[in-house]
Amino acid sequence: MDETALTSIKGIGPSKAAKLTKLGLISLSDMLSYAPVGYIDLSNVREISSLADGETAVISVALDRDPVTVRLRGGIGMVSLYCSDATEKIRISYFNQTYRAKQFTKGYSFMFYGKINRSRGASMTNPMCIKEGEGIIPVYKTVAGVSQTNLRDIAKKALESLGSQMQETLPDSVRTRYTLCTREYATRNIHFPISGEALMRAKMRFEFERFVTYFYMVKRYRKEREQQKGVNLNATTILEDYEGCLSFDLTDAQKRVINEIARDISGDRPMGRLVQGDVGSGKTAVAMFLIYAAVNAGRQAVFMAPTEILAEQHYNNLKTIFGDKACLLRGGMSVAEKRASLENIRTGKCLAIAGTHALLSQDVEFFDLAAVITDEQHRFGVSQRAALEGKGFVPHTLIMSATPIPRTLALIMYGDLEVSVIDELPPGRKPIKTFLVRPNKRDDMYRFIENLAKDGKQTYIVCPAVEQNDEITDMRSAEEVYDELKPALCVPVGILHGKQKAQVKAQTIERFREREIMVLVSTTVIEVGIDIRNATVMVVENAERFGLSQLHQLRGRVGRGSEESYCFLMYEKMSDTATERLKTLASTCDGFEIAKKDLELRGPGDFWGTRQHGEADFSWFSELCDVKLVKQASECVELILSDDELYDDMRVLLDSAVSSYYMGKDRITLN
Ligand code: ADP
Ligand code: MG
Repeated sequence: MDETALTSIKGIGPSKAAKLTKLGLISLSDMLSYAPVGYIDLSNVREISSLADGETAVISVALDRDPVTVRLRGGIGMVSLYCSDATEKIRISYFNQTYRAKQFTKGYSFMFYGKINRSRGASMTNPMCIKEGEGIIPVYKTVAGVSQTNLRDIAKKALESLGSQMQETLPDSVRTRYTLCTREYATRNIHFPISGEALMRAKMRFEFERFVTYFYMVKRYRKEREQQKGVNLNATTILEDYEGCLSFDLTDAQKRVINEIARDISGDRPMGRLVQGDVGSGKTAVAMFLIYAAVNAGRQAVFMAPTEILAEQHYNNLKTIFGDKACLLRGGMSVAEKRASLENIRTGKCLAIAGTHALLSQDVEFFDLAAVITDEQHRFGVSQRAALEGKGFVPHTLIMSATPIPRTLALIMYGDLEVSVIDELPPGRKPIKTFLVRPNKRDDMYRFIENLAKDGKQTYIVCPAVEQNDEITDMRSAEEVYDELKPALCVPVGILHGKQKAQVKAQTIERFREREIMVLVSTTVIEVGIDIRNATVMVVENAERFGLSQLHQLRGRVGRGSEESYCFLMYEKMSDTATERLKTLASTCDGFEIAKKDLELRGPGDFWGTRQHGEADFSWFSELCDVKLVKQASECVELILSDDELYDDMRVLLDSAVSSYYMGKDRITLN
């Protein structure tokens, strides 16, 4: 492909090019595969009088006067534009951009995209000025010093000069069979969609490719693993001893799954098993059995968590059973602590190890690793599983997933694994009372939370973003909610989000656990795994912005004991599917029901802005547009693997894609 440097574009000098490198954009061709994170539909022009305070929209206005420039205190320049459309006058202000004054002239028409403020007449601050004829435009992930306009210019240039040379990767027969558009069409429309429909087709095509690559890898990997040797942990008779270490009796479902695991690890093949269980079904106790079996046989096991908070929680659980044979490895540890853990892992002094994926995939040297557990599979891919090659044997792997997808689909998605299901909740759980709440009832809800807090019950409040975002203005941020609540409630309020240092996060969650904080304002960092029984209220801000399964996960942070629990879903404006999502949630607590409904509701239309959720980290499964596509991709991989010469080229392509995928990932070194 063309390696034209980005500096060949007007407005991009060496310093900007250096910043672009941080985004992985080095040559023009890199931009082709740099997909937008969202889109703005500029074709939808609105009348000013129809816009409510705070709404973000495109308006088309004429300038009633020439621009007025003034210097404010502190030397900031402000340009004001007095404009109107047929329905209303509006004032547009630009701060720190005095050059703007030259761009506008009285009597001419312009279009702006921004957030309307109605506090003193209608106004907009620093809106985007858009050209006539711009339809749906992309929004890219960017860094300081690189504007959306820069990225859009690069994308345009890249498509102009390289679009037509693009290599097609899918054979015609595959494209026809599954009615997929060409790679060139898909690339053009992923950046600058000519319509919503075209964008959808483009995404389908890329999703299909992604699934094909993934399934190809999964199927290849399964074949490889089936030929390898595992460690016999002789675990068929230790269940009773294990149960003696727990503070509760296992449910029948937990016992059944544990027995399946015990059989797997008591032979000479490496286990590869997925355990599915609804949130709160007690997956941790099942996972710990595997660690127990390994330690019992004098070997090591690791429990990997997707977040530092969760790693710490697992560690605390391990400590109660394994004492000083347990250790932790996570971000934010002191150098000395980390060195001690690494040393204990290397020498075999510690056998039960909890840690975050990131740290464990760096060059940790194990003494004798026999089992690996990953919590919440969707954040730990098959390539990492494949990277777990030992000396002469492959460790047993157990993957825990709370995404209760239907069994047929699970078998496709996790084609390299056996699947077990924990289909029973521990006794005594009450359904979580779930309510949809409008903003005007917010104060009542705060009083409710406050009263419960006085009775010793704790609350989580989850927001879709950490801080205010200028592009997405109708979204509540954790900082905003925290600032509002701290003075308003007479109980201690805390804040937790992904941008904090590991140490701060760990302390905050500890203080919440110790009930020094009664109301915790947070982002989706608490989505998975957190287990604090005394918390009985979950509030989700902008609930309309979250997917159904994600809401179910969030709600699952409460109702973990026998206490009455509540979930309040706050919402502002909602589409019909969002309404249906929230109603579904209010009507049932059954994860499988919810997952089924989720798949039904998730039309391709949902593609719009699915990633505009601030910090929310969407797994590729939750972005999934429909089950049909997954099934088709899986079927397509069967065709490709059938040795038909029609697919020779694809096999070569896929093999190289898979190898570079493997290589790009950190490997876990085993000794
Ligand atoms: P999840 O499946 O969501 O990971 P956890 O493993 O965190 O669920 O368990 C949820 C809560 O239920 C924990 O507090 C755990 O101690 C408790 N628990 C697990 N199994 C049982 C059981 N058989 N009886 C009673 N409580 C249990
Ligand atoms: Mg869990």
